[in-house]
Amino acid sequence: MRSFAFSAPATAQDALAQGAGGTFIGGGTTLIDLMKLDVLRPSRLVDVTGIEGLREISFTEGAVHFGALVTMAQAAADAELQRLYPVLAETLALAASAQLRNMATLGGNVLQRTRCAYFRDARTPECNKRAPGSGCAALTGNSRAHAILGTGAHCIATYPGDWAQALIALDAEVEILSAAGQRMMKFSNLHRLPGDTPHQETNLAPGELITGFTVRGPWPRSRYVKIRDRESYEFGLATAAVALRLEAGTVAEARIGLVGVLHQALRELG
Ligand SMILES: Cc1cc2nc3c(=O)[nH]c(=O)nc-3n(C[C@H](O)[C@H](O)[C@H](O)COP(=O)(O)OP(=O)(O)OC[C@H]3O[C@@H](n4cnc5c(N)ncnc54)[C@H](O)[C@@H]3O)c2cc1C
Ligand code: SF4
Repeated sequence: MRSFAFSAPATAQDALAQGAGGTFIGGGTTLIDLMKLDVLRPSRLVDVTGIEGLREISFTEGAVHFGALVTMAQAAADAELQRLYPVLAETLALAASAQLRNMATLGGNVLQRTRCAYFRDARTPECNKRAPGSGCAALTGNSRAHAILGTGAHCIATYPGDWAQALIALDAEVEILSAAGQRMMKFSNLHRLPGDTPHQETNLAPGELITGFTVRGPWPRSRYVKIRDRESYEFGLATAAVALRLEAGTVAEARIGLVGVLHQALRELG
């Protein structure tokens, strides 16, 4: 692994100041992985896990709010979340391994990178996502577990995260902090389709920090279904987050978030 500078600010404002030109790190379970593979080469890491006030899950009558530093394990085990928004807890409980869930933050989770084997292999020259304009090895290579919807001529990778599907299905918002202040974005606008620029995966501006997520509800009738190669832990091949609202025994509203077959999570409304 290449050498890098490291800082660990205690406040969001310090993180923003130090983040300019640097790379934020949460649990490090994706970022360090890709640095070891020489796919990512940040020269400066800014550890955000010491920032005060971002580790709470809080419930109000019509919503739940997650600080960006809540861990996957913390949210998956939250009894109130399991009762009021089961799909949010299940997508996390069925993701990764116990060790990873203990380390990984929700802010880092939504920004995890594709698992395309060519992207993760720095020796493969053709990968438009890793090296813009270099081509796409998956188009003529091994494309098992690649996307079948939302692809483009330049990239057919999937977005691999489970939790994002529930956020999409439940129409969540993401809180973003920059030197200019805080802004809210519909979570469905966070990730981009590949188009001509597969290396640009999100609509975050450089240096913007994710500070939290808000989901309105509750959605007690919601579940997650995940088909994967092995049950112990594995990314999904085809998965669905489903939420229903019933009125007098009839489905009044149905929401479905899909991942595993798509470049970004997608929501179907019924
Ligand atoms: C073996 C393995 C199996 C896995 N299986 C699954 C699975 O089945 N399902 C699944 O969903 N996931 C799976 N994962 C992925 C895992 O969920 C992610 O690695 C984890 O959620 C990332 O969180 P983190 O805090 O460690 O992020 P980091 O690695 O710290 O960061 C990830 C990215 O987010 C950025 N970042 C971090 N925090 C912030 C912030 N607050 N604001 C702005 N940018 C930020 C970083 O710069 C980096 O680009 C697996 C991972 C591994 C290694
Ligand atoms: S599918 Fe996307 S990530 Fe995979 S090799 Fe092609 S351009 Fe790279």
